[in-house]
Amino acid sequence: MPSFEYVRAGDVAGAVAMVSADPGASFLAGGTTHLDLLLKDAVIASSRLVDITRLPLHGIERVGDSLRVGALTTMEELAADSIVAERLPLVRQALLAGASTQLRNMATIGGNLLQRTRCRYFRDRNVAACNKRAPGSGCAAVEQVARMHAILGASEHCIALHASDLCVALVALDATVRIEGPIAPRVVPLAEFYLLPGDRPDVENVLEHGELITRVDIPLLPSAARSGYLKVRDRASYEFALTSAAAALVLDDGVMTTARLALGGVGTIPWRAREAEAILTGAPATVTTFRAAAEAAIHDPFTVPGTAFKVELAKRTIVRILETVSGVNP
Ligand code: SF4
Repeated sequence: MPSFEYVRAGDVAGAVAMVSADPGASFLAGGTTHLDLLLKDAVIASSRLVDITRLPLHGIERVGDSLRVGALTTMEELAADSIVAERLPLVRQALLAGASTQLRNMATIGGNLLQRTRCRYFRDRNVAACNKRAPGSGCAAVEQVARMHAILGASEHCIALHASDLCVALVALDATVRIEGPIAPRVVPLAEFYLLPGDRPDVENVLEHGELITRVDIPLLPSAARSGYLKVRDRASYEFALTSAAAALVLDDGVMTTARLALGGVGTIPWRAREAEAILTGAPATVTTFRAAAEAAIHDPFTVPGTAFKVELAKRTIVRILETVSGVNP
């Protein structure tokens, strides 16, 4: 059992100051990933856990054409919100597909954005080769058995998947995160928040030590938009995605005037498929168009024998979600 100091923060500035002052300190919110890695798997360490659960960072508020979501809002609270159900159905579907009810009641939106990879080698301290856990040690997943791993944005240094369903929908919607830190607050588009592994897979996002996500702003879709989230997995519940896709379309007389598409289960980061969006936008909603978009979305994949099946599966996932959202069937 690792030993650490536990403290409860009274306000945001105090929480930031306590973590900033100690290079070994970390924030604790819902704990659904952090405590697993710290106490059960023992693959991360923390000298001080700063509990932020009492900070005033709960709540969902409509601000103009956006939804402002406090970082400590739970997944279940966001999934149950009436505006989400009406204007952001892809977000609701991603949340419901992302975790069991018990987990959704504990896990926070800020924590969901920061969840760590499910790579089995990362979570097994008996495996020596893991560049994400021990920089410079190698990558067991590239050399050994890999299946629940990424094919886009991967490198020979790391093929770990970003496991969040919610983030796929949020990236498609151009959500932003507000960050409080020891110097000044800042706002970062979620699409620019995550970093590709390159040769430093241990650096996963733009957060500096001591910085805290305090809220997420989600632009609402136009009322005429149709959207959805499709998750393909080995079993119907309590399982991570093999592939997934979030799509939002605005159709005018059979032509897609707006198209948003993001992918999960395939990327080292939540993957915005901009090449596919360029093909879809202004084109007729047909299966031929959808397949062309899928081919554009899955280009230059980095595969190992265990993940090669995802190339075609991801393309079919894209076609299926576009068929579903548009109402066009072959
Ligand atoms: Fe570690 Fe990434 Fe390789 Fe998994 S894929 S073993 S997390 S370096």
